[in-house]
Parts: sequence; structure tokens; C-alpha cells
Amino acid sequence: MLRRAVVRCSGVVQGVGFRPFVYRVAVSQGLAGYVRNLGDAGVEVVVEGEEEAVNAFLRRLREEKPPLISYEELSVEWAPPLGLAAFRIEGSVKEASAGGFSNPPPDIATCDECLRELFTPGGRRFLYPFTVCSSCGPRFTIIVDLPYDRVRTSMVDFPMCEDCAREYHDPLDRRHHAEPTCCWRCGPQMKLIELSGEEVACDDPLREAAKLIG
Ligand SMILES: [Zn+2]
Ligand SMILES: [Zn+2]
Repeated sequence: MLRRAVVRCSGVVQGVGFRPFVYRVAVSQGLAGYVRNLGDAGVEVVVEGEEEAVNAFLRRLREEKPPLISYEELSVEWAPPLGLAAFRIEGSVKEASAGGFSNPPPDIATCDECLRELFTPGGRRFLYPFTVCSSCGPRFTIIVDLPYDRVRTSMVDFPMCEDCAREYHDPLDRRHHAEPTCCWRCGPQMKLIELSGEEVACDDPLREAAKLIG
């Protein structure tokens, strides 16, 4: 029998790769529906499909969640299916409430995969200091408002280049919906600035600064 489940999640569920995780599980179960961030840092998930597949999805939501995600509440309401055709990550909504209590995530230390990329000569993020993905990088520091989306972070001033945008929109990429993603071409750059406000001309501001402070 076809069923529709409306799942509201609270806890730490925004900015921790939750939407890409939900997307992967829903698609692998052959479900239609959507996931979207809510204004109180919660997330709403709607899935439609065979009852068995919906139940498997709900089980996997708990059992396979990546470590950064923590649920405070996960409520499920059943409803008649509306005949949705595919699963999508939808734009966030400001007002809706997930119930329970949700927190924006803290900043997260660079993950092993990003570290590998950072130190791979020839890669497009070789030694780029702001290398991040949907499992790591700044969150709390850059969030201006909720729901958590790039437009409501300090990254709004750095439009993604086409390579970063491709990764961001690719459901199979680990930067799928990684809001702060960037690279040498499109992201913030480092400068060394004198107390007087004058920029110090140098190739590597980080090394130069390290030299100056001995
Ligand atoms: Zn990472
Ligand atoms: Zn880029």
C-alpha cells in the first residue's frame, strides 16, 4: 500500500549533512518526496512510497545517521499520498516549526578527506586554507540567521565558481549542499595587513605571518 509520512526532526540537524543523507536514503529506497530546513533549525522530511520502503527509510534515518547528526525529537505523521514523482532537496522555509529544541551546529574540524585534498599537489584545493565539505568546516561562526543556507551565512559574499557549484548540486558528491564550500577561485583569500592597514606584498601570507611572530 502507498503511504505518505511527514517526519519532523529536531536536535542538531542543520549544517551537518542531514539533507544529503536523507536524500541518499530516500532515493535508495525508491521514495518520492522532499526534505527542507525549517526556521527553528529543525528539518521536515516528506516521503511517499510503498509502506515497507517508508518503514525501512524511517529505520535507516535512525540507524545510519552520520555521527554529527543528533536527534532530540523525530515525530512521524501518516497521511494519504499526494502522488509525488521524485525526491528533492527543497528550499528552506523560515516560519515552519519542527517542535522540540534544535541547535545550529558548532564549527567542525577539517575532516580526513578534506585534509587529503588540502595536501594533494595539483588538486584544485591544494593548500587552500578554507577547504570544507558537508562533514566539516565553519558553521556557527558563519551563520547569520536560520534556516541554514549559504545566503544566510557570511559566504553570501562569495558566489560559487562553476566547479564548486557542480559539486554542490551533485547528490553523489560529498559537497552536496555543503553551504560554505569554496576554492581558490571563488572563496575567501588570505592577506597579511600591517597595523597601518597597508597590505604586505608576499606570496604566502600564512608563512610570512608565522615568520614575523617567530
Ligand atoms: Zn571535509
Ligand atoms: Zn570554487
